[in-house]
Amino acid sequence: MEIIYCQGCGAEIQTTDPEKIGYTPASSLNKEMVLCKRCFRLKHYNEIQDVAITDDDFLKMVSTIRDANGLVVHMIDIFDVNGSLIKSLPRITGDNPIILVGNKVDLLPKSTNQNKLTQWLRSEAKEIGIKVKDVFLISSAKGSGIEELSQQIDAYRENKNVYIVGTTNVGKSTFINRLIKQSSGYTDVITTSYFPGTTLGFIEIPLDDSSALIDTPGIVNKQQLTHYLSDEDLKIVTPKKEIKARIYQLNHGQTLYFGGLARIDFIKGDRQSFVCYFSNELPIHRTKLENADELYKNHVGELLSPPNQTTLEQLPKLTESTFKLNGEKTDIVFPGLGWVSISGSDTTVAAHSPKGVSVTIRKSLL
Ligand code: GDP
Repeated sequence: MEIIYCQGCGAEIQTTDPEKIGYTPASSLNKEMVLCKRCFRLKHYNEIQDVAITDDDFLKMVSTIRDANGLVVHMIDIFDVNGSLIKSLPRITGDNPIILVGNKVDLLPKSTNQNKLTQWLRSEAKEIGIKVKDVFLISSAKGSGIEELSQQIDAYRENKNVYIVGTTNVGKSTFINRLIKQSSGYTDVITTSYFPGTTLGFIEIPLDDSSALIDTPGIVNKQQLTHYLSDEDLKIVTPKKEIKARIYQLNHGQTLYFGGLARIDFIKGDRQSFVCYFSNELPIHRTKLENADELYKNHVGELLSPPNQTTLEQLPKLTESTFKLNGEKTDIVFPGLGWVSISGSDTTVAAHSPKGVSVTIRKSLL
């Protein structure tokens, strides 16, 4: 087949995989102006849709941003900070300034201390070598924080382009669609100048005569828990509204299962509360530590679900990490799922999560 490039974003047109970049239905190929589905939707419905890219394309994208001059806005999901921070971001951005945006704050309990959350995001980014100029918390869905963020982007960008970068599912499209709606007068937001095979699905939304906001394809991170789950599982695991704390008074020798996706064992310490912050729909099951392995073996995929019987097959085995706590209120964080807050002194817990989706700890956010 002759290679055709999308007249909007410059991606190579393909007709086989709707999830991948450059997809267009075969029936649209004979049109005079061929657009990929993503650009088509943007042009006709003013709506951004996320596409995923491969590692190779990602590397090409890296060099494009590094050689450009502009502000990089890295959007992450505050429920999956480990999974949504892009470890190679410093390589991507070169000397360009980065601001970090934590999305989905509407899901946090009202009592969350946003300063602590901001500090934690900053330190997590720093740990993997990302130096950020500033950190913002927003809700793309509900709109909170967006206005301040837009103003700050405008100040930080110094009339240059803005690159919005993130893994899939962090809410990038929801954010950009909101910006498009807010700013009136965009009838044709697609860039007309393109360089076949090099722009890789960058979509430009003009900010003024000489600069633009550029939506980049979402990078897929294999370490995200969501990657192993079905749409049905995701409906249960992904919080839809503010999460409510579920509190369990535990003695040592007890275990909590979060569906069949994660587990925490209370190994040592005085009786205390385990305050659990997960999607309100995710079942939590309490059992004795001594029965916990057996329960999992016999009931994962049914009593302990999600996963279901099918997704179970692709889920990596649960692996265990041990944490010793010294009395400071601490969150045991299960990336992509939620966290458990504990404050006992001389306390030991073991946290189990699918291999590759590592559990971390932080100072409690409350
Ligand atoms: P993208 O892949 O980064 O473009 O992400 P999307 O914008 O498609 O959003 C991914 C999912 O997260 C969708 O189900 C959105 O409804 C949801 N989402 C996006 N932003 C928010 C937010 O601020 N709060 C909540 N609760 N959900 C959000």
